[in-house]
Amino acid sequence: MSKKPLIIDVHGHYTTAPAALGAWRDLQIASLKDPSQKPDPRSLRISDDELRESIETNQLKLMKERGSDLTVFSPRASFMAHHIGDFETSSTWAAICNELCYRVSQLFPDHFIGAAMLPQSPGVDPATCVAELERCVKDYGFVGLNLNPDPSGGHWTSPPLTDRHWYPIYEKMVEYDIPAMIHVSTSCNSCFHTTGAHYLNADTTAFMQCLQGDLFKDFPELKFLIPHGGGAVPYHWGRFRGLAQEMKKPLLQDHLLNNIFFDTCVYHQPGIDLLTKVIPVDNILFASEMIGAVRGIDPETGHYYDDTKRYVAATPNLSEEQRYKVFEGNARRVFPRLDAALKAKGL
Ligand SMILES: [Zn+2]
Repeated sequence: MSKKPLIIDVHGHYTTAPAALGAWRDLQIASLKDPSQKPDPRSLRISDDELRESIETNQLKLMKERGSDLTVFSPRASFMAHHIGDFETSSTWAAICNELCYRVSQLFPDHFIGAAMLPQSPGVDPATCVAELERCVKDYGFVGLNLNPDPSGGHWTSPPLTDRHWYPIYEKMVEYDIPAMIHVSTSCNSCFHTTGAHYLNADTTAFMQCLQGDLFKDFPELKFLIPHGGGAVPYHWGRFRGLAQEMKKPLLQDHLLNNIFFDTCVYHQPGIDLLTKVIPVDNILFASEMIGAVRGIDPETGHYYDDTKRYVAATPNLSEEQRYKVFEGNARRVFPRLDAALKAKGL
């Protein structure tokens, strides 16, 4: 490839939102005990200058330093906390968080494009999330969504992702041609550390649920992005192949890989080398989840753990053409609305 790829990071969260957002959420949570204290969403005022500053000194600064161009940007995952309150709590909170990501995408249209947080709530029909999703796609130009397979926050009280329970969301995803990143939120089960265990458990669990079921027979166009390098999946690919074989499922390539994709949020070179060796290149999308779970510098390399572009660039397992797919081509294919937005800009 002679042309330098556009570097598209498909996994970014607004982890650096101004403190007023967290303060408003604290009031909302406190009001669950005393509804008379319920804060008005309009009482949250964050100026464009504050948004600009929070991005320019954080995500955008690192994107420029590391050489990435565009980030698919969604509300902070651990803040979704769908287990708190009821549907109305989640609905108000999701609307606020999505609007902030939309405003960021308007302030920096060349660098950020939105993905929606859903107003999920444990025990509530996911169909209730469709209105917010529609708003995010139609009014905000969002190109994806984050779907929490466990809105209970570590207790796994919802049916598996293959259950008809989730179909109203899938029908909307297919209608809009948008993928879902399967992304849990904060763990409220002390057995599971949020980002060290619950996230990776959920990635692995989502894949296994899909393996056991036949969801993609009902939805051949449905696309799931499993983050954090797919949890334990690539490392244990032989186990999953063997389980599929015993369950008389088709080969994973046919059973799941037309619909399931993995990101590169794996924070060391050997992990990316394994991912790119085991998983077909068409199923790997560049992502960093920067300023997220792991924010430090690796003393072994002197670079930030989450500077994943460096690992993708260095792995011996990818040709230049394959690297183009990971950095740009696959993202355009998995996120058709992102592709269309880029094309509209002549990119
Ligand atoms: Zn994330």
